[in-house]
Amino acid sequence: MRVYKTIAAFRAARRKLTGTLGFVPTMGYLHEGHMELVRRARAENDAVAVSIFVNPTQFGPNDDLSRYPRDLQRDVAMLRKERVDMLFTTTPEEMYPPGFDTWVEVKGVTDRLEGEARPGHFRGVATVVCKLFNIVRPTRAYFGQKDAQQCVAVRKMTRELDMDLNVVVVPTVREPDGLAMSSRNVYLTETSERQAALCLYNALSLAQSMYAQGERDAASIRRAMTELIQREPLARLDYVSVAHPDTLAELERIEGAALASLAVRIGDKVRLIDNALLGPGMRQKGEGGRKPSRKLTTFQINDLGARFVVAELTARGLVAVPTSRRTAGADVIVRELDGSAEAYLKVKASLKSPRLWPMSPAERCLKGPGTYYVFLRRPAGRSDTFEAFMATGDEVARAVAEGVLPRKDKTGGKPFMHWALPSDEGAVKALRARWETWRPGKA
Ligand code: AMP
Repeated sequence: MRVYKTIAAFRAARRKLTGTLGFVPTMGYLHEGHMELVRRARAENDAVAVSIFVNPTQFGPNDDLSRYPRDLQRDVAMLRKERVDMLFTTTPEEMYPPGFDTWVEVKGVTDRLEGEARPGHFRGVATVVCKLFNIVRPTRAYFGQKDAQQCVAVRKMTRELDMDLNVVVVPTVREPDGLAMSSRNVYLTETSERQAALCLYNALSLAQSMYAQGERDAASIRRAMTELIQREPLARLDYVSVAHPDTLAELERIEGAALASLAVRIGDKVRLIDNALLGPGMRQKGEGGRKPSRKLTTFQINDLGARFVVAELTARGLVAVPTSRRTAGADVIVRELDGSAEAYLKVKASLKSPRLWPMSPAERCLKGPGTYYVFLRRPAGRSDTFEAFMATGDEVARAVAEGVLPRKDKTGGKPFMHWALPSDEGAVKALRARWETWRPGKA
């Protein structure tokens, strides 16, 4: 990987390139989120360029420019490992020489949310991204869904200013417990703050689960998210939004997809943002050949959904499920019953050494890699809580043998690949009785 410290040096090298060039603009202090963008660029292009530039014009007077974390040496090593070809990293003076006075402003979609909370932020972003595009001249540029409003603004800018490149948006990469990766997470120095920061993810998961259960009133979702954040003593809500994913206009009713997003201050030094799409990420599907009962719904849950479960379990100190970023595809069946909901979820613990977060008394439920089943129960009248326990495949087999759980093998081979709901109330009652007597460590 060659490192270029001036615009002229980068340009000279760029002119010699043939083929496609993928570009990942960053502010450095790289983490797995950035690396996912880099890997995607690597997979889709002949060459890859990354920029590291802490852009002063996108920071406001009250922002954290002077203390923004930096570690160029470490960043360079990480990029080399991913076979990045070119790194462009230069100084504010080179990017903004004296007398600089040309700005790119994307109006409309930047008026609210981050734009409102951080005046001038998106003018700085659009200007630097435009400059970087002119310097790098990429075929494709990669941005993270983590900064959803930035993605919308950059897309709009490239479209309206006829920039000849594709903007690729990469899903948010999260810590095992759901916290979105961010360079700013290093500010979460206290364990209590790190724990409190999970409330963003929990609020988004709640929004997703409400949507999944048919809630389409955006105000109800915003209210529930707000209440969840307000219950966290170390958190101060900046904004919460359920908006149209393209216009970012606040919604009343969710007709198609929606973008749930929020900004929260944790303690007095850290401001975090996160978002989740409601709708397409949580595809509803029919329940195979079975005729669904009135209130029966099957969900194919996505990564976020699976992580929601992990967060719920962890919050309860019950158990943490080993997760990787590959938990997509777990099956959940939710059934409304007497005003409460029952959910069965299958999570595969396929990592060689299961990662626990944090270690809990129920840790011994995890006997190593394998398939574990998580049983969830939503207490009546609560939309934000699950009770849960986890069982190994053997224990589930026993439950099936006892008739507590139905065996239904739609794939014609592996048992438990697909679960059906107990078809009669008796089986549900028996399952419930098991939950009633279950305690962590006894499972
Ligand atoms: P930054 O260095 O914070 O300016 O981020 C550079 C790029 O990485 C932006 O496009 C971000 O949206 C993206 N990014 C940051 N965090 C994540 C994450 N957790 N998952 C995916 N992309 C991310």
